[in-house]
Amino acid sequence: MLGSMKAIQVRRAGGPEVLELADLPKPSPGPGQVLIRVEAAGLNFADILYVAGEYLVRTRYPTVPGMEFAGVIEALGEGVEGLQPGARVAALGGSGAFAEYAVVPARSVLPLPPQMSAAEAAAFPVSYFTAYFALRTQARAQPGEWALIQAAAGALGTASIQIAKQMGLRVIALASSEEKLALCRRLGADVTLLNTQDNLVEAVRNATEGKGVDILMEVVGGAGFAQSLKMLAYRGRLLVIGSASREMAQMYPVGLMKGNQSVIGVWLTPFLSDPAEMQAAVAFLMPLVASGQIRPVVGERFKLEEAAEAFRFVLSRKNTGKVILQP
Ligand code: NDP
Repeated sequence: MLGSMKAIQVRRAGGPEVLELADLPKPSPGPGQVLIRVEAAGLNFADILYVAGEYLVRTRYPTVPGMEFAGVIEALGEGVEGLQPGARVAALGGSGAFAEYAVVPARSVLPLPPQMSAAEAAAFPVSYFTAYFALRTQARAQPGEWALIQAAAGALGTASIQIAKQMGLRVIALASSEEKLALCRRLGADVTLLNTQDNLVEAVRNATEGKGVDILMEVVGGAGFAQSLKMLAYRGRLLVIGSASREMAQMYPVGLMKGNQSVIGVWLTPFLSDPAEMQAAVAFLMPLVASGQIRPVVGERFKLEEAAEAFRFVLSRKNTGKVILQP
């Protein structure tokens, strides 16, 4: 497996300016691993935090970022069964996707419905598995409940609207522009609100007959976190999924008692090594994706060498759906 490949290499913590296009040795698959030629990789907000050294796992530099992609299996490592060279697959977890080739454990590989494009497949794993684990596994959402989704036109947001509707939830979508809200409505959001409007708490209460929301997907954190808590219904669950503001949030836990409310953490990574939870997620998600009932929203596409531009684009909050990098 000799040869070199183009990859985005990061040698120190920082913003888009630390992303370098480099020639690196093409990797070869070890036991239990699969070598895949990358056709498209999804850019997640977590990649930005990972490059900056601000993610939940420690970044070890030099590194090649990128945690999800779609492509064609080129070679199998020793002991890998059930996968064939030449098959088009998606892969989830780890790092190294912002490159022409990536090696992943065989258990990270997801078979693809044939009608899915590489870009759609690359947009799928992180956002849809996270939406599923957040709403079903952690929040135990019940049909008819109200779910509020922040950054609803983004990658996780668009996936969450689709998953919430499949679970029979009523959705309030929040985003920062009218164009973004129009997309949320097309995806099935019942109520859409600009996150910049005054009296957001009141608007959420009015939309829910004064009750507030049963589930709130918090991805912004910072000063707005206290406001999110005020939007919760009796027995409401606030899911802490992200902190796009990159600011600390404060809360007064005793305030949860009166309404029997919960604040629940959600992180995709530990679920990936829990076979029972993954099996349940695959059983829920794959039929929906195969039948076209859920369909990833592909946002802007950038070439691999334009990775810095792609990072800046997401940081400037311009994306709708998932931004894609293509080698
Ligand atoms: P998005 O495509 O949603 O892009 C981020 C969006 O966050 C922006 O478009 C913007 O939406 C909103 N936002 C609010 N404040 C800021 C800010 N200060 N800077 C930039 N964006 C801001 O990204 P992802 O779908 O990749 O991720 C969304 C969130 O979910 C992130 O916080 C991410 O870390 C988290 N996440 C967590 C996972 C987990 O396992 N816990 C897994 C996947 C994602 P708007 O302009 O409409 O406000």
